[in-house]
Amino acid sequence: MIPIAAGAAATGTGAPSGAAAMAASDARRCGACTACCEGWAAGEIHGHAMSPGHPCHFLAGGGCTIYERRPQSPCRNFVCGWLGEPEHFPEAMRPDRLGVIVIRVRWRGEPAYVLLSAGREPDDALLEWMRAFSVRTRRPFFYEQRGEKLGFGPPEFQRDMLARLAAGDPMW
Ligand code: SF4
Ligand code: SF4
Repeated sequence: MIPIAAGAAATGTGAPSGAAAMAASDARRCGACTACCEGWAAGEIHGHAMSPGHPCHFLAGGGCTIYERRPQSPCRNFVCGWLGEPEHFPEAMRPDRLGVIVIRVRWRGEPAYVLLSAGREPDDALLEWMRAFSVRTRRPFFYEQRGEKLGFGPPEFQRDMLARLAAGDPMW
């Protein structure tokens, strides 16, 4: 998320970095990325809903027009995987470049991820990268392709997912 002062020229260029970025990492800033403000995930900000196809009401000209008074939830709380874990996710995976947001979640109290479409579905190259990452770290991840919810992770994760499917529950 990048700030734009209300009434300022809405270019985003040279704007100070997002608070989430500063809190999450000295090494990374959201920069020009506004993927989490674009409605790919549902949320509500000061009474205005955002959802797929409906960006945040306060997103304009590539930045946040209410940056100083953006709410704690979801805005200030949200730190995507790329921003929060530069040791894991390479620069090229910045969500606006990747078209996918790596959302940090928990599975059995341990780190896991959801690959959320931010313009496209995860492709084979991204899934291959994530599978190798998952094998290396034993961290599972969830994703969606053609409307089907899928997951990848270590054997205990696979057992959990099979149990969920057998019970008729969604994987995530
Ligand atoms: S998706 Fe991540 S990098 Fe992009 S604006 Fe949101 S927190 Fe920042
Ligand atoms: S108020 Fe809207 S544009 Fe600003 S940080 Fe929150 S979601 Fe993004």
